[in-house]
Amino acid sequence: MTIQTVFIPSTDEHEGVYFARYRVKWVCPACGGQRGEIFPIRSYDGSRSQVCDGWRNPCGHIDRYSQVRQEAATNGLNLKAETGGSSC
Ligand SMILES: [Zn+2]
Repeated sequence: MTIQTVFIPSTDEHEGVYFARYRVKWVCPACGGQRGEIFPIRSYDGSRSQVCDGWRNPCGHIDRYSQVRQEAATNGLNLKAETGGSSC
């Protein structure tokens, strides 16, 4: 099982500043296939833009950032305690 850390907007209206890193299992939630390779993509929220991570799944299913955030919140890989320590 591959785990990837992705840098994506932490909210849909990110204003160019609200971004975070999330650890997710690198499989498509729709079909369980491998997700695609990460590449830099410019995310535009309607007013400001910022470069973050994007990927294109070989299976053709679209991953929405909102779904990735939800996945990250429930997959147990992004425990809040991990962010409070001295690790970087
Ligand atoms: Zn898929």
